[in-house]
Amino acid sequence: AGTVRFEDVRFAYEPTRPILKGISFEVPAGKTIAIVGPSGAGKSTISRLLFRLYDVSGGKILIDGQDIRNVMQASLRASIGMVPQDTVLFNDTIRYNIRYGRWDASDAEVEEAARLAQIDHFIRMAPKGYETQVGERGLKLSGGEKQRVAIARTVLKAPPILVLDEATSALDTHTEHEIQGALDRVAKNRTSLVIAHRLSTIVGADEIIVLDQGRIAERGTHAKLLAQG
Ligand code: ADP
Ligand code: ADP
Repeated sequence: AGTVRFEDVRFAYEPTRPILKGISFEVPAGKTIAIVGPSGAGKSTISRLLFRLYDVSGGKILIDGQDIRNVMQASLRASIGMVPQDTVLFNDTIRYNIRYGRWDASDAEVEEAARLAQIDHFIRMAPKGYETQVGERGLKLSGGEKQRVAIARTVLKAPPILVLDEATSALDTHTEHEIQGALDRVAKNRTSLVIAHRLSTIVGADEIIVLDQGRIAERGTHAKLLAQG
């Protein structure tokens, strides 16, 4: 289960300015599709529509054949693990932040999720400003580290569908590499839609869609797109 299908999806935030101009693609259950393209192309908008932060202006989005407008919002959002570009953490320990929404998870499960996201070394710490309240070391997290906390939370929640909006564009190569490793392991065998900024970071995707000005400009495997330059 977990097939995602966009059928001729159109969308505009403002009526006079279309952002998505008829987008069709399918993410088969268990596969990873990556969306790349220049800033402003409409990539993040696709993830917002899937999560129903906005409704489509035309066409439809289906999950397992069902129009998402006919699915209860709560159950839709429970089935999608969304790792946004800018993660806001709760002012509490990293452990709390990972466990959030899965209060039944054991410590071992939380630690396993942290290990996958490569943040197990600071699981006991808290974001800076909270350390005095928990008596543990305060930690100033970078954007990439915050995103890895969100990845760990998503791993623990284990939703059938993953949406990962890579925050790697502004990060140094080492951090980008670490996040990429975490994403690869998390996306494996799960229906995943990855929003990426660079072709180089999505070697593992089953299909890559190049979005440009709200249209699909190109699609294919990593090797095919690289061969075309
Ligand atoms: P990214 O391009 O990194 O995905 P965003 O999706 O947040 O970043 O924003 C993309 C662009 O959309 C930015 O140039 C931003 O200024 C613009 N933008 C974001 N929110 C709004 C808004 N409410 N109204 C108009 N433009 C916006
Ligand atoms: P990408 O993720 O490819 O950088 P986005 O999907 O974030 O692109 O944005 C696509 C276009 O939509 C951009 O031109 C941006 O300015 C515009 N946009 C994004 N968010 C809003 C918003 N909330 N209101 C109005 N325009 C927006």
